[in-house]
Amino acid sequence: MKQERFSIVGMTHPVTNSNEFLPGPVLLLGAPGVGKGTQAKRLMDAFGIPQISTGDLLREHRKNHTPLGMMADDLMAKGQLVPDDLVNEMVAKRLTEPDTQRGYILDGFPRTLNQAEWLDQQLADSPLPVVAVNIVVPERELLERITGRLSCPVCGTIYNVYSEPPRHARVCDREGAKLIQRVDDTEPVFYERMKAFQSKTAAVIAYYRAHGGRFAEVDGSVSVDAVMESIRATLFRLRQYSGT
Ligand code: AMP
Repeated sequence: MKQERFSIVGMTHPVTNSNEFLPGPVLLLGAPGVGKGTQAKRLMDAFGIPQISTGDLLREHRKNHTPLGMMADDLMAKGQLVPDDLVNEMVAKRLTEPDTQRGYILDGFPRTLNQAEWLDQQLADSPLPVVAVNIVVPERELLERITGRLSCPVCGTIYNVYSEPPRHARVCDREGAKLIQRVDDTEPVFYERMKAFQSKTAAVIAYYRAHGGRFAEVDGSVSVDAVMESIRATLFRLRQYSGT
């Protein structure tokens, strides 16, 4: 399909002439382990828009030993947040890429009020405003989700040894690659990440909730497919799209 078909410049409604749904900028919010990454990947496939995970971008920097990666390394290993200005700059750069034109899913950003306010300024002229979806899972379920999580280094598929195990232990069903565990997916680091979530990110959720109209909450404790379905329905509702 031609790029112009999806142009959102000057549009006030998310439906193109060809009746394509335009998701625009979507934020997935929620505590560590609620399934933001899993759902972002599903949305990416469903809507053809990129997942922009600040955690993944930072892990890429770490792997490549860039100055940002080296600066972030220790903080990430401890479950603490990377300074706002560095993360904002990284996001700003990513948002200039052409694949973001029809929309994108921000996964793990914003995580502080400062980042949320910065994003508002960045998107002040965006034809479609941000919509924020908060995924909610009872806290007692999160530890198992985090410590059981494994992912494929090739295709990024996320498994869980307790709830979504691969067919063969520690091997990706799709790629046959050996699954890996994130260095920060351990019990002690999980508690640090929850502390950062409660002291910094909970306020971001309150911020979007207070701005009403473009905020919704979904139950993340049901199956992956059911969560995806409620997010999809929520996006259609927030964008006032009939889905037909
Ligand atoms: P995630 O993959 O989203 O769980 O992020 C992994 C780690 O990357 C976090 O524990 C933080 O150290 C860092 N990080 C990711 N996103 C952000 C952000 N928006 N602001 C600050 N630090 C972040």
